[in-house]
Amino acid sequence: MATYHNICATGLRRNLKNNPFALMLLTSHEKLNYIHRRLSIFALLFGLIHGIGYIGIAVADNVHYRLAGGMYLTGYAIITFTVVIAISSISFIRKKYYEWFFVLHHLCSIGLLCSIWLHSQNAAVYMKVCVSLYAFDRGLRMLRSFLNSSKFQIFLWDDDLIYLRGPKPKSLFFSLPWAAGNHVYLNIPSLSYWQLHPFTMVSSPTGDYVEMMIAVRTGFTKRLAGHVKKSGSVKQVLHEEEGKLGLESSSCKSEHSEKQPSSWSWSPISLDVPSHQMTVLMDGPYGPTTNLYNNYSYVLFLSSGVGITYTLPILKDIIQSKSSKTKKITFVWSCRSKSLFVAIFNLLKELMKDESQIQLDITCHFTNSYSYKEIPDIQFLSNKNFYLRLLDGRPLFDHYLKPCLEEAQGQTAAIATCGSESFLKHVKKNVTSCVTTSDDLFQHYEEM
Ligand SMILES: Cc1cc2nc3c(=O)[nH]c(=O)nc-3n(C[C@H](O)[C@H](O)[C@H](O)COP(=O)(O)OP(=O)(O)OC[C@H]3O[C@@H](n4cnc5c(N)ncnc54)[C@H](O)[C@@H]3O)c2cc1C
Repeated sequence: MATYHNICATGLRRNLKNNPFALMLLTSHEKLNYIHRRLSIFALLFGLIHGIGYIGIAVADNVHYRLAGGMYLTGYAIITFTVVIAISSISFIRKKYYEWFFVLHHLCSIGLLCSIWLHSQNAAVYMKVCVSLYAFDRGLRMLRSFLNSSKFQIFLWDDDLIYLRGPKPKSLFFSLPWAAGNHVYLNIPSLSYWQLHPFTMVSSPTGDYVEMMIAVRTGFTKRLAGHVKKSGSVKQVLHEEEGKLGLESSSCKSEHSEKQPSSWSWSPISLDVPSHQMTVLMDGPYGPTTNLYNNYSYVLFLSSGVGITYTLPILKDIIQSKSSKTKKITFVWSCRSKSLFVAIFNLLKELMKDESQIQLDITCHFTNSYSYKEIPDIQFLSNKNFYLRLLDGRPLFDHYLKPCLEEAQGQTAAIATCGSESFLKHVKKNVTSCVTTSDDLFQHYEEM
């Protein structure tokens, strides 16, 4: 039983965002989350074997009355909580009903800790540690969210795309080191106090603003888009808020970007879209504290749709880094949304102005039912070290993987991938078939 307590306790602690293991092992919450899931499966199996074993013994000894009292009652509660946690955590259910999963997971975890505590006196010490850490983690996250609050201007760029921009909070948490590609858990109290959703910050850690790009889906993001559409106005942004937020209109943007080529912003090319100002709370930043891709000679970025919010800030950071060891970057992105495609094309164009020695090979795949050629002002671009190609249709990953691995022979190479679960599965399958035992390839897969 002590083993079970230990597994439960360690499993729970490893999923807390503010936990001592992450600090001790200098690893990220995302990696510990993997261990958390594996340990939880062991805890479930141990718990079931232990519980069913004791029920079996009571039945075999013909002492059925024991089954209706004492430790058995708390035992049933433990099994119930564990089974509910296990079923609601199944990938398909968790993804389809994320909000329900979130609430159930926390309520059942609290119920589980209390039941184990009551079940056995030996467990009390483990559970006290768990409850204290759990309360500390939740408390710190709430405190951080309140300290990290900021007034954001939220633009409904298109029906399927939201852009958020607000002054970077002055709190300690944003002053601690964080790197390009980090994410925050965002809460908008005027929409709901209880909804926390992860979004990647597309802005640079050194900038004065926090920017995010959000694809409109069916839950919280749809409500946010609806709210901006209903309550927002175009006029308000252009005449009142523009000055306050430091946003640039399209006409002054080109002038400004000529003066400061590297300080590009994600703000909409045209501000002529509905926008609304809202208070946003942010728990984070989460993710690595440095951009580790700067250490690799060859880097391949593969992303789809809004997954570019992870790969593009990292790409920009490498290009602007003075100490990067990177020689060549291959950047591949596929996208169906026209508004996102146009916005990203305009941002990628800006990279041409950076006088970096790194060879940058960018290919954007437009995967809508019509050709990218039908979109005005979108075309192939190149200069000394820079290629920006446009293609219709989905990318064939091995077309990018094989040349990258061949060029990187004997040198360090990394691949960063971000997109939907099916996109990542597809990439992984291709990587497995292309990579040989002699290839030294660092791989990172980020699911959105
Ligand atoms: C680390 C990370 C960074 C992300 N960065 C971005 C980004 O920059 N831009 C962007 O558009 N999207 C990003 N996402 C995805 C984004 O969090 C979800 O699309 C968003 O929470 C969906 O909200 P919804 O209620 O409208 O979704 P729904 O339509 O209800 O669900 C759509 C999908 O989102 C998932 N989801 C819903 N709520 C959450 C949640 N709280 N946490 C994790 N997944 C959830 C569900 O599993 C489901 O598959 C990121 C996700 C992660 C994990």
